[in-house]
Amino acid sequence: MSECKAYVTKAPEGGIEYRSVNITGEEGNVSLKPVLTGICGTDRGIVRGALPFSYDPSNYDYLVIGHESMCEVVESSSSEFSPGDLVIPIVRRPGHCPNCLIGRPDNCSDGDKHEAGITGLHGFMREQFQEFDFNLVKIQDKSIGDLGVLTEPMKNVVKAFEVFERVSSRSIFGNGISTLEGKTALVVGTGCEAFLYSFLAKDYGFDTTISNRHPIEKNSLEMCSEFGIKFVDTSKDPDFPAKPLDLVIDTSGDPGTILKYLRKLNYNGILILFGTNGRAPDVELTGNDIDHIVEKNITIAGSVDAARIHYIKALDYLSKWNRMHGDTMKNIITSYFKPGETSVFTQKPAGEIKSVIKWQ
Ligand SMILES: [Zn+2]
Repeated sequence: MSECKAYVTKAPEGGIEYRSVNITGEEGNVSLKPVLTGICGTDRGIVRGALPFSYDPSNYDYLVIGHESMCEVVESSSSEFSPGDLVIPIVRRPGHCPNCLIGRPDNCSDGDKHEAGITGLHGFMREQFQEFDFNLVKIQDKSIGDLGVLTEPMKNVVKAFEVFERVSSRSIFGNGISTLEGKTALVVGTGCEAFLYSFLAKDYGFDTTISNRHPIEKNSLEMCSEFGIKFVDTSKDPDFPAKPLDLVIDTSGDPGTILKYLRKLNYNGILILFGTNGRAPDVELTGNDIDHIVEKNITIAGSVDAARIHYIKALDYLSKWNRMHGDTMKNIITSYFKPGETSVFTQKPAGEIKSVIKWQ
């Protein structure tokens, strides 16, 4: 039961292999097999050995990678799940701090938590595994299809907007008609996570732009056009933005880019940092920057991971967008790989928004 094929790395050194593993002692009342697993920058960072905070589970000298997953229930002794149900396993598992104990390990206050496929817990890129029902979120709307695999990246977006709501409620943030129409949001980056951020910013009512330092492929431009989002190639438009920004969400982790847009924030502006890049060049924050932040009530907030509530809301948004923009939305998955293929971990396919492994 415990022997199966898996994508395996050694954390934090890196590498990637598809091979048999024998994982013993894992408990759970639901047996799962993967349907789709997504690959993101974190997976590629671990494989490259560029994520020093990742580590193997205790008693193992390897780590099964993978945290973005949609699975099918094979067997269940839980009354909540039946064979054939589609579920999303939750990535972060609580430690013992108060936030972990109230079900918000995303806000862990001492770092004593684990993340499947990243920190000290085997991930989901394997032929089969067991989970407890309390670590699973059921997909109610099966018409969502393959887009269910985006629940994990989308839940981060939902949580970051929870942070936005908390911060923006300190002042009158909306306009004269109590909406966000005319308020500007910039999402830095053009990967899958950036697109999901821009879709939700648009959904909130922001005049939304997505940016990168290079052009993007036709499929990405079509995505922008369908959702009513602008794209700016900042290598061709260095003076962007012409107007102050009300909300900036960064998925790049690049300090230089972040500082550039921090300086463009409006009164009561909010900068949410999501991307990480420990290897990016340093930049200098000046006295004028501090004046700008203080005098304009600017908030800079980091946002990592999310809790069960955000997975559920993420599925609602994906379901809604699938119904409104299904023909375009499905193109967010740009390539499918077979189990055993490893190239996707070391090279990004051209035009990638989201690459996935299709297990069945
Ligand atoms: Zn904790």
